[in-house]
Order: sequence, then structure tokens, then C-alpha cells
Amino acid sequence: MNNRIIFATTNEGKMKEIRLILRDLDYEIVSMKDAGITVDIIEDGQTFEDNAIIKAKTIMDMTGDLVLADDSGIEIDAMDKAPGIYSARFLGEDTSYDIKNNYILNKLNGLEGDDRSARFVCAIACAFPDGEIITTRGTMEGYIGHEIAGGNGFGYDPIFWVPEYQCTSAQLDTQIKNQISHRGRALAAMKDILKKKLSN
Ligand code: IMP
Repeated sequence: MNNRIIFATTNEGKMKEIRLILRDLDYEIVSMKDAGITVDIIEDGQTFEDNAIIKAKTIMDMTGDLVLADDSGIEIDAMDKAPGIYSARFLGEDTSYDIKNNYILNKLNGLEGDDRSARFVCAIACAFPDGEIITTRGTMEGYIGHEIAGGNGFGYDPIFWVPEYQCTSAQLDTQIKNQISHRGRALAAMKDILKKKLSN
């Protein structure tokens, strides 16, 4: 096995975060772009794990490398856990997050306290060249706030209230968000597993 891990994303922001978290693994972490891979993967799984596995396995089959992939989204309990795995596509892929976030605020109008509970979820899948697949999951629990607030982060961050910090995840310092986020937690759990497996 060569000493690299492909992370199946084209998002450079994610790559930065991932390289930082996985820096003490003795592997070079490369993006699909670095590896010269362009492929349109249809994410038609029913769970975050399914979709992460589809991405990791597709790239592993193409390259024979160790491949990591993630899938994430937000679950809003008052909306039967929607948009969930459809978070990016919710109300249309090209619809602005200002529109998506205002739609959710309107939908939850009149609800208070625990009735506004929500969480970000991230599943990470690792596809090994011998066919083995492992997954980890991280979550960040919180509430849908009453208004849009904050300019950091992306997506649904401006309406996601983080109770421990009494602000939205768009008002959190990026480093703090990375430490407590669904993606940070799923990646940290994956790193622990990989450290053990790769040292054998
Ligand atoms: P993907 O895993 O990159 O496909 O992300 C799915 C979608 O979930 C994103 O496009 C966002 O809408 C939402 N999402 C995932 N993680 C976050 C986050 O940390 N903050 C805000 N939105 C997020």
C-alpha cells in the first residue's frame, strides 16, 4: 500500500480541516483533485453512512487506495428529522441558504424549547483496498434559533443554536466549531481506529 489516503471531496475548506485533524497519521491526505480524479457519484443511499460508503467505495474501486469519505446534514426533530440526508438538496440545490434558513424558521414558528431540537450529523466511511469498510458517526446537538445570526461557517450554521456556547454555530470561532462539530467528532473517532489498524 502506498502511503496516502484519498479523502473523497472536492471541497478545499473540508480538506484543510481534515488535514489538520489527521496530521499525526503517517499518511499524506490527498483530495480527489490532488489524485486527478473527476467522477460524478450518485448518492442514492438511505442513510448518511450509506452515502459515505458509496463515495468511499467508488473511489477505492477506481484507485486501489485507502479512501475516506463523509456525508453530513441537519436533522430537525419538528420536521420529522428533515432535511437529513437531503440537506444540500433541500428546496433545490441552487436555492440560497438565506431562503432555506428562513423557510425553516417559518416552519417552526410558534414552537419553543425542546420542540426546536436539532442536530448536525456526519458519517465518515473508510474503504480499505482489501474490501473492508468501516464507518464512524459524530453529532452536534442543538436547537433551531429564532433568527438568522452569525457570519462564520456555511449552510444551516446561522440558525443552529449551540446551547453550550449560547450562540449559533455561525457565531463560533472556526477552531472551536471544528473541535465540537459533528465532522470533527466523526473524524477524531475515525483517526483513533485508523491509528490502531495502520500500525499493525
Ligand atoms: P455534504 O456532507 O458536504 O454533502 O453536506 C451536506 C449539507 O449539510 C451541506 O450542504 C449543508 O447544507 C449541511 N451541513 C453539513 N454540515 C454543516 C455544518 O457544519 N454547518 C452547516 N450546514 C451543514
